[in-house]
Amino acid sequence: MKEEFQKSPECSRLLDWIVDYLDGKVTEKMRQEIILHVQTCEHCARLLWGMKRIVRYCQMQTDCDVPLLAHQQLWEALICEFETEE
Ligand SMILES: [Zn+2]
Repeated sequence: MKEEFQKSPECSRLLDWIVDYLDGKVTEKMRQEIILHVQTCEHCARLLWGMKRIVRYCQMQTDCDVPLLAHQQLWEALICEFETEE
């Protein structure tokens, strides 16, 4: 039987934080909460690892840092996709 994903308030909060987390702008407390959440939520874990892979890929394509704006657009597109996933 296929389990249905129920987005909890924790998931919504993680989505708000994930961009800052990947940019290294979260506090230690937030970082720990994110790590804790992805250990218990497979859906968010997959989202996070997927994003990390994309960041690494982008960094490999350019010799310098990916512009922040490109980051944000990427995150927004990914988060939008995640949120509309049924
Ligand atoms: Zn979650």
